[in-house]
Amino acid sequence: MTKKLFFLLLVSLSLNAFAQPDRWQQRVKYTMNIDMDVQTNQYKGKQKLEYWNNSPDTLKKVFYHLYFNAFQPNSMMDARSLRQGSVVMRKDKNGNEIVDWDGRVKDRIANLKENEIGFEKISSLKMNGRPQKFNYHETILEVVLDRPILPKSKVVFDLDWHAQVPLQIRRSGRDNPTTGVRYTMTQWYPKMVEYDYDGWHPTPYIAREFYGVWGDYDVTIKIDRNYILGGTGYLQNPNSIGYGYETKGARVTRPSGEKLSWHFVAPNVHDFAFAADPDYKHITRQMANGPTIHVLYRNVKNDPKEEVAWNRIADAAVTVYPFIQKNFGEYPHKQYSFIHGGDGGMEYPMATMLVSSSLGTAFHEWMHSWYQMILGTNESLHAWMDEGFTEYATNLVEEYYSKQTIKDQTPEQKRRSDSIALNALPLYHEGNYSGYLALAKSGREEPMTTHADHYNTNYAYSNAAYLKGNVFMEQLGYIVGAPTRDKILLEYYRQWKFKHPNPNDLIRVAEKLSGIQLDWYKMYWVNTTKTIDYAIDSLYQDGAATKIRLRRDGMVPMPIDLKLTFKDGSTEWHYVPMYLMFGGKPADEGQNPRKIYESWKWTHPTYEVQTTKKLTDIISVEIDPSHRMADIERRNNKLELKW
Ligand SMILES: [Zn+2]
Repeated sequence: MTKKLFFLLLVSLSLNAFAQPDRWQQRVKYTMNIDMDVQTNQYKGKQKLEYWNNSPDTLKKVFYHLYFNAFQPNSMMDARSLRQGSVVMRKDKNGNEIVDWDGRVKDRIANLKENEIGFEKISSLKMNGRPQKFNYHETILEVVLDRPILPKSKVVFDLDWHAQVPLQIRRSGRDNPTTGVRYTMTQWYPKMVEYDYDGWHPTPYIAREFYGVWGDYDVTIKIDRNYILGGTGYLQNPNSIGYGYETKGARVTRPSGEKLSWHFVAPNVHDFAFAADPDYKHITRQMANGPTIHVLYRNVKNDPKEEVAWNRIADAAVTVYPFIQKNFGEYPHKQYSFIHGGDGGMEYPMATMLVSSSLGTAFHEWMHSWYQMILGTNESLHAWMDEGFTEYATNLVEEYYSKQTIKDQTPEQKRRSDSIALNALPLYHEGNYSGYLALAKSGREEPMTTHADHYNTNYAYSNAAYLKGNVFMEQLGYIVGAPTRDKILLEYYRQWKFKHPNPNDLIRVAEKLSGIQLDWYKMYWVNTTKTIDYAIDSLYQDGAATKIRLRRDGMVPMPIDLKLTFKDGSTEWHYVPMYLMFGGKPADEGQNPRKIYESWKWTHPTYEVQTTKKLTDIISVEIDPSHRMADIERRNNKLELKW
């Protein structure tokens, strides 16, 4: 592509006028009343669910998730976890076998007693007032409707149920052995399964990743009056609750009785989570142009370090929000809560559960608000679009935060900052690249099209979803240019928020903004485990010119940035687009002078570029000195010549 054409492309990109995509979606409105018994760890619930079938389809049945039923001996989650315990990954230096456990689950479900298991039991289920037949399939409830739900119509389900909160094993539960948090109420109520253009997604609760229907939640939780709650949604009766929720200067007047009713409303979310503990401390921060931050944490020993750490989370959220808003888009809700709970870090709408005061985890979970809560990709099917992009964004947010808070940069920090300026792979992504490369060489890699619960190993899942997903985004910057990649991320958010985008939706935004065909990138990087490996094959003097032959050893074709360095210290950049792109990127910063070639046909194993300089003037030739291309064998990317 000529330079002139590049310029024209850039001009058209800045116009940026793409229509909002139109895609039907189901809609829900939950009204739930919960009565908790903190002695038996059980609760009773009444749920009214207004359900809009906006699809063109007639629905003869519906499905609900009953997540708590996973926490029973011999459940599917239990059986899978026990299997992972038999998968030996490697041996440690003392010769002990390292198995593929999730350290939090292991064989703990198998050992739960009757009063420690979780369950959700339905006592009554009606549609428009008529009782409906239902079948339990452990964590999925199948409801065979007496009359179908017609396209573009609304029905009302009324459901009564009774549940026991399991001992904390994974994500949800009571009496966390590490934190002592009494109740982490996540994945805790009968929840309508999402129905979309792929049909129903009755994904049983095996391990991970979620998908839900957007709607409005109105939830009232009745619980012993000494319990303090945090969660999704705005508290509607703050002045009859108090505990730090009261409006400034207002007098708290609690009704009499042993219990208090906490009334929350959450608009436009696809889940509702909360946690409850009598010992929570509650701090808040109000941003000038952003959400109110709530932090609820337990610190029963009054450890001053913990006080500092939880307060730091609140302050850091305020510090980084302007950067997040600018680079990843606006947070649409007025409130976000960091809550001590769960067993790691787990994201929910308007809130996260954090097992510790780790700031890195807090940043990661908050960034999920963008990729899971607001974009809401089906994580089961495309975990990399949630975890990978969340990782990518978190790395940038952490870097920004450390620059804001550390005045005198250490040499290591300076190196990090410089690496960004030079269009090199930022050091904060390096761990993600090396983790992906380890996966690619491990023999355990599976395509990222694998359903999150169906990977053979937890190792393959997490390195693919978190690390290869992050590499997807950073490497996209190598292919289309980093500034274009940044615009793609923002535009993707703008166009697809609250719409459940899939991989193709992202690729289409990227294609329109870059003017480059990118279907091949999705196909190779997401659908296969093929790898990238380019090499310098040979150099030879040909008349007045020097020819450099490049060789493709890996099966994934990529565009090539090649840097030549000469004895006199000067450099030359050579750019070879890849055939399937039908276009090319503008020069990255510092790539000057740059020579642009005809595209390299992916069927052809070698390609020759040339320079007018003499062979003996060249001191080094390097493919992708930025290291943003995830080449599995970098040693053959660079040739240094000594004359
Ligand atoms: Zn995550």
